[in-house]
Amino acid sequence: MVDADQTFVIVGGGLAGAKAAETLRAEGFTGRVILICDERDHPYERPPLSKGYLLGKAERDSVFVHEPAWYAQHDIELHLGQTVDHIDRAAKTVRFGDDGTLVRYDKLLLATGAEPRRLDIPGTDLAGVHHLRRLAHAERLKGVLAALGRDNGHLVIAGAGWIGLEVAAAARTYGAEVTVIEHGPTPLHSVLGPELGNVFAQLHREHGVRFHFGARLTEIVGQDGMVLAARTDDGEEHPAHDVLAAIGAAPRVGLAEAAGLELVDRASGGGIAVDERLRTSDPDIYAAGDVAAFPNALFDTRLRVEHWANALNGGPAAARAMLGQDVTYDRVPYFFTDQYDLGMEYSGWAPPGSYDQVVIRGDVGKREFIAFWAKEGRVLAGMNVNVWDVTEPIQKLITSGAVVDTDALADPHVPLDSLGA
Ligand SMILES: Cc1cc2nc3c(=O)[nH]c(=O)nc-3n(C[C@H](O)[C@H](O)[C@H](O)COP(=O)(O)OP(=O)(O)OC[C@H]3O[C@@H](n4cnc5c(N)ncnc54)[C@H](O)[C@@H]3O)c2cc1C
Repeated sequence: MVDADQTFVIVGGGLAGAKAAETLRAEGFTGRVILICDERDHPYERPPLSKGYLLGKAERDSVFVHEPAWYAQHDIELHLGQTVDHIDRAAKTVRFGDDGTLVRYDKLLLATGAEPRRLDIPGTDLAGVHHLRRLAHAERLKGVLAALGRDNGHLVIAGAGWIGLEVAAAARTYGAEVTVIEHGPTPLHSVLGPELGNVFAQLHREHGVRFHFGARLTEIVGQDGMVLAARTDDGEEHPAHDVLAAIGAAPRVGLAEAAGLELVDRASGGGIAVDERLRTSDPDIYAAGDVAAFPNALFDTRLRVEHWANALNGGPAAARAMLGQDVTYDRVPYFFTDQYDLGMEYSGWAPPGSYDQVVIRGDVGKREFIAFWAKEGRVLAGMNVNVWDVTEPIQKLITSGAVVDTDALADPHVPLDSLGA
């Protein structure tokens, strides 16, 4: 039983942190809840930053997790624009803000998220080099894309991952010229493998995006502080007025590392190591969202998932575990994307090498299909493209671990929920 005089501190006001605060109150916790975030904006959701908000289709107000008044109404002590720079595990305090305020915690949640990886090449300090993680970045990029569209300007995007491709789609919608530089052989190679990565390459080519695969940026060439071009390691020079570095994100583990918490090494995905209750190597400190690497029994591995649904569900799971409830965080990883008229959802985990078959149900050419990644007839992951309301049966196929008839899996006339039963 948790006492009403306890203090729970949450570091990081992204989706995981905000949802954890909400859950603490929803579960009846009446102690102090302190939420500290280094961003000045109230907690918001990031997916619209590369889609609806960037395209000017979603209002700024629509991205926030709660109305600003919600925090006071629920007695959440919100400290915005304040960085936590130290955890003293022995004294059970965190220090934050310019004046080094100390606050004592009974339980602490680290929901510090991730930050964009930086290009380590000449020219990255030029004004036309951008990243996309925060609302302020999206606001700025929106203006940049509109101007490029107006002036037939060129955007070079480093990285054909989800954010790179979503911004490419937005930039083409504004009318900008877009070149994507990617060192892999296809977009999204490490998630979708070569088979399905090409679906995204084809989609973008049809919309006028140029790809340059198998190359890395080596220099951003500028003049008088402005971007002129981007050079790749094969000696090519690509005209550019602006460059977006979309080369992935790194978990923000600095605080946890300094506090001596167990981490996962970068080669194994990085992040703060937590158990199935999202508890770190210190029993009073939990971690959730992009920063947490949790054991997943289904895939028999530790996973760190940088996706919206993991923050949405992981924050509440950590909150319940902090309250002493019996929690096992074992959700099937899930994410979505929207690019032009393609909408997609992906469930599961199937990096290249983990599967021996890709099964297609539907019409890839029309971009209306479900792809399944399977090993020895067991479904590891499924991606539905412009096919809806199938997440539940896909996830059931994954969690059941049943061997399925892959011919039936490929046949759209066989109901998904009749398979693997
Ligand atoms: C542009 C963009 C588009 C995306 N689109 C999709 C999508 O379509 N589908 C999908 O599934 N996922 C998407 N994602 C991923 C998804 O948004 C993230 O997985 C999610 O935001 C993670 O939430 P989080 O709360 O763990 O971390 P974050 O959202 O990163 O929040 C962590 C917060 O903690 C703050 N913080 C860190 N350290 C400290 C400190 N020491 N002191 C105080 N504050 C600190 C950070 O500044 C940040 O505000 C997208 C991400 C981005 C950036």
